[in-house]
Amino acid sequence: SQKTKCQPLSPHNVRDLVDSVDAFLFDCDGVIWKGDTLIDGVPETLETLRSMGKKLVFVTNNSTKSRSQYAKKFYSLGISVTVDEIFSSSFAAAMYLKVNGFPKDKKVYVVGEEGILEELELAGFTGLGGPEDGKKTVLLRPNSLFEHDKSVGAVVVGLDQYINFYKLQYGTLCVRENPGCLFIATNRDAVGHLTDLQEWPGAGCMVAAMCGSTQKEPIVVGKPSTFMMDFLLKKFNIATSRMCMVGDRLDTDILFGQNAGCRTLLVLSGVTNISTLEDSSNHIQPEYYTSKVSDIPKLLR
Ligand code: PLP
Ligand code: CA
Repeated sequence: SQKTKCQPLSPHNVRDLVDSVDAFLFDCDGVIWKGDTLIDGVPETLETLRSMGKKLVFVTNNSTKSRSQYAKKFYSLGISVTVDEIFSSSFAAAMYLKVNGFPKDKKVYVVGEEGILEELELAGFTGLGGPEDGKKTVLLRPNSLFEHDKSVGAVVVGLDQYINFYKLQYGTLCVRENPGCLFIATNRDAVGHLTDLQEWPGAGCMVAAMCGSTQKEPIVVGKPSTFMMDFLLKKFNIATSRMCMVGDRLDTDILFGQNAGCRTLLVLSGVTNISTLEDSSNHIQPEYYTSKVSDIPKLLR
């Protein structure tokens, strides 16, 4: 196994890192919380950074909630954030459609959960599917046709605990048969911490199912895609070189930060451990790594 090229965050380099950035972009799961459980020392860390005048932004690939649902989650964990500091992949899907002038008279079929539908609605789009189709079944009968809405112009796929054959058929027909229908993935994470003690299948497997049936590749709007970063940069007037992306996943968070030219800090409080980082098969090296975000104020002292 090769030695890691990145540096452990230390009392010698932490001051330089903090002083040289104006904004911290925090991934959520594995950094702020694990499932619904807060990670040690997070509220105090965020307060310290805010008191130093740092802009804080939260970027999550988990599409099951909308931004306002995330604001409530932060609040329930004792962290105060505003909705406009939150960038979820559910919001990114709606913003992708908006930025690209998706017609309001076309509909969006959702293989995913409530968060996507809520963001679509807030952006003025008509969503179909989602939780409502979770209990529907298909009838495989001779001479019976599965009907789908021809005015669906986009299918958005994200994590869906209630994914079923009905939704897969619906989404597949839209992508294959509706002319110009977009196929959008909120994210392709392999796994996620739906609960604190273990990982669960992530949106990657729902997206893969739709790739299999449509034989098409989706437009990905979550990390590591540059869409969310470009969108975020238009909202906040900060140079990427003065931003630090803090995350627990190499292939989403760290890559997302690096692609944009941000500083990067990997935390080991989520899905990546030191041996994964040091493994010769890993080609993504963050600039720094540390065990958890609360090391930042601790090392500054
Ligand atoms: N998608 C799902 C379904 C998840 O459960 C998680 C983490 O819990 C993620 C994505 C990754 O979220 P984040 O980008 O906040 O780490
Ligand atoms: Ca994460």
